[in-house]
Order: sequence, then structure tokens, then C-alpha cells
Amino acid sequence: MRFQSYINGQWVVGSSEGVDENPSDLAAPVGAYGIVDAALTSQAVDAAAAAAPAWGLSNPQQRADILDAIGSEIIARRDELGRLLALEEGKTLGESIGEATRAGQIFKFFAGEALRIPGERLASTRPGVDVEITREPVGVVGIIAPWNFPLAIPAWKIAPALAYGNTVVFKPAEIVPGCAWAIAEIISRAGLPEGVFNMVLGAGRVVGQALVEHPKLDALTFTGSVGTGTALHRQAAARGLKIQMEMGGKNPLVVLADADLDKAVECAVNGAFFSTGQRCTASSRLIVEDGIHDAFVKRVQERLAQIKVGNPLDASVHIGPVASKAQLDTDLAYIRAGHEDGGQLLFGGEQVQCATEGHFLAPTLFAVEADHRIAREEIFGPVAAVLRARDYEHALALANDTEFGLCGGIVTTSLKYATHFKRSAQVGMVMVNLPTAGVDPHVPFGGRKGSSYGPREQGRYAVEFYTTVKTAYTAA
Ligand code: ADP
Repeated sequence: MRFQSYINGQWVVGSSEGVDENPSDLAAPVGAYGIVDAALTSQAVDAAAAAAPAWGLSNPQQRADILDAIGSEIIARRDELGRLLALEEGKTLGESIGEATRAGQIFKFFAGEALRIPGERLASTRPGVDVEITREPVGVVGIIAPWNFPLAIPAWKIAPALAYGNTVVFKPAEIVPGCAWAIAEIISRAGLPEGVFNMVLGAGRVVGQALVEHPKLDALTFTGSVGTGTALHRQAAARGLKIQMEMGGKNPLVVLADADLDKAVECAVNGAFFSTGQRCTASSRLIVEDGIHDAFVKRVQERLAQIKVGNPLDASVHIGPVASKAQLDTDLAYIRAGHEDGGQLLFGGEQVQCATEGHFLAPTLFAVEADHRIAREEIFGPVAAVLRARDYEHALALANDTEFGLCGGIVTTSLKYATHFKRSAQVGMVMVNLPTAGVDPHVPFGGRKGSSYGPREQGRYAVEFYTTVKTAYTAA
């Protein structure tokens, strides 16, 4: 299979070719993909700009029907799309099929939202005047997406963009061209006018940059690393581009001494290691109160010993490979940093040999101090840190002692501490007796501090980013 870009209603081969790797079997790539250059990216933005005025005035029922059809097809083909995702990104087949389903549900949610674009009508302070507040599309939306949710994240950006009448240029991450192509292929048959949706495959530094620098781009939604996000933020600010960013996390899961131990262990193992720890909401800091610390660590070690790492298509596997060689190198560097900083390795720490050559890494747990690198920096792999807390107040202070603020969790049977944590955690999303990862598709997603910038994504709150407000005054 050779995956292509989609520009102005045409499939475009591109000027060079990249390999679409299979992180579970490096000898059997998923396929190849055509790489477009800056000039073709510019054509995609021009096409989106040309299509924007008519699409912005399109009938909301037409948009709803198209989004609903896209969602229905994704859900009907979730097994096949999930298999492609598992092959290309490496999460288990169960997780992948779940993600495909969620992507379909998101399109269906925004199909409904296309028909419910909110507005207000108020009395004016001047006699005989009416005031109306309406929402209009922003125009051309650039979407730069990461590889870790290659169906769901594009869905939660593309669906609201189209629902609210914007046109789109979507640039996926380099290592997941197959999932991007699959989404584009479904969208290409859904009845959108030419130029409304475009997808460009290529490197961030080339295609991503050409997208961001294009004068006809009206807004940019980005999910990815802090480094890239910070650079894009600067560029966006310099030219007054509307921008929304979701970046890293270093999410705390607090386990109090009164917690149900089984629940605490399941929340920690799921949140830290499932999806190979490659979720921005992963519980990478397990902050455990003294009274339960040793019992908790022992039970997590026992639980991890039962976890099978391997090929994500094998139904008995719990954790698939790390998605790329670059990410594996990062994970291994942080494991070295864990040792160098004086952390105590509690589990894993080494690569796992499987029948095929792939980027398999054991779930890895360190006992650390709050100033160790693996307690502070986002790793984005199956590597978690345990921190010991004297009491609830100390645990809360540790939880908030980070530059990030995406998600935070607490496992406790105390209503008092659960309520206090919900109010005091400096995060955008808070979980009580649940893993920090795993969110609903119909409610806002996003964080505070260094994790996010701009309006929230998903649910009805997506309207903030994908529309601009107009205030109209009318006198008879
Ligand atoms: P990761 O390290 O997880 O790959 P990145 O932030 O590098 O995270 O990538 C997230 C997305 O941003 C990808 O689609 C990538 O191609 C894109 N990207 C990377 N660098 C740039 C850049 N300089 N300009 C625009 N997009 C970029």
C-alpha cells in the first residue's frame, strides 16, 4: 500500500517516498507513503481558502449529514481500521478498535452540533435596537496532529472544524500516514465540496512549517510535544494566528492510605502503562501515602509480572511496542537517567525480545525523589515513577509541583480528600478512583499551565476555537 495526500479533491502522489513502519515487526512495514513538499502544502491551503466562503454558508443539515455518514462508516469499519492502527502505531487491537469507535462517535457528536450552533439575542441599552450575538466559522483551520491517537485526535479536530463551517488542511504525524489516509479516504467519499478537506503527508519541518507560514491560514490546532508547540506558539503570536495547543503532561495519581488497594493498583497500572504509556494523560507520577506505599508497590510489581508485552494483534498481549525507534531511544535515555539520578528500579527497565524484531519495552517502574528527571519531565513511554508522600497535604503539594497541568487523579475512600483534591489539583481534568487516562468524547479535554494553550477541545466547548463571535446591532 502506498498512502497519498488529498488536495483540492485529488489524490496526490508527492515528490518522494517514506516507509510506513510496523513497530512490532521492522521486517514487515505497513507500506509506503508519498511525501509532499512546501509548494503542494501551499496549494492545499489555497484550495481550503477558495472553498471557505461557500462552505461557511452551507446548510447545517448538509454538514450534519456528511459528518454523520463519516462517523457511521468509521464505526462500521472499526475492526479493519483498528487493525491498521495496531499495525502502524502499536497499541493493542482492543485499544485500537476502541479508538476507531471513539473516532466515529466524535464525528456523530459533531454532526449534531452542526445543527445546534449557539447564539444569543439581547435587549440593547439603546431604545429600538436589537443585539444579536452569532458565531461564524474562523475560515481555514490547520490541524497538526501527533501519532499516539492517530484516529481519535484527527477526528476531534476535523469533525468540529467541518461542523462549524471551516475548511481544513490536516497534517498528521509522519509515522502514521496509513491512519491519516484511511480517515481522508472515508471523508473524500462523503460529499464535501472540493477543497473543504485536505490532508498532506510529510515532515513537520517542511509540510507543518509551510502550513503555519501560509498567509491564508486562519487558525491552527496543534497536539504534540512542548518543544514544537512552543515554537509554533511564537510563530502564531508573531502573525496574529488563532491557536490552540495540547502538549505534554506529567500527570499525578495520588494514592491515599485509605484507598481500596485493588482499585489503586488497577488505576495505576492502566493509567501508567496501557497504550504503552503513550498517552498525554498517562499517570507517570504515582504519589503514594506512607501508610499504603509498600503494600501498593508490592502489588503493582506482582501485577506487572502478569503483563504480557508483544505483538498488538495477539489477543493475549496487554502492552504493544513503543511506536518508533526515536521514542524507544527517548524511553531508554530516561531509564538511564532514572539510574543516574539515584532512583531505585522496581520493575522492568529493559527491552523485551519477541518473535519479531520490534520496539518492545518492559513496563518500567522507579522509586524516585521529586527532583529526579523521570519525576519531572514527560517521557511518553511505559516508564512511571513512584513518589512517597507523608500525608494528603504532602501528596497534593507533590501533585501540583510540576510545570504541567493536564490531568490528575486520586484514589481514596475519603469524600473529604476527594472533594479537596478535585478543587485543588492544578489541572484541566481530574479523576477520582479512576485512571488519569481514559476520557469521554463529549466533554471538554485540555489542561492548564504548560500542558495546554487556548480554548478546550471536544464537546460543546469546541465551539470556542472553531468559531468567531459577531455582535450585530439592528434598529427598525
Ligand atoms: P513528537 O515528538 O511526539 O513526534 P512533535 O511535536 O514533534 O511530537 O510532533 C507533533 C506534530 O507536529 C507532528 O505532526 C509533527 O510532524 C509536527 N511538527 C514537528 N515539528 C514541526 C514544525 N517545526 N512545524 C510544524 N509542525 C511540526
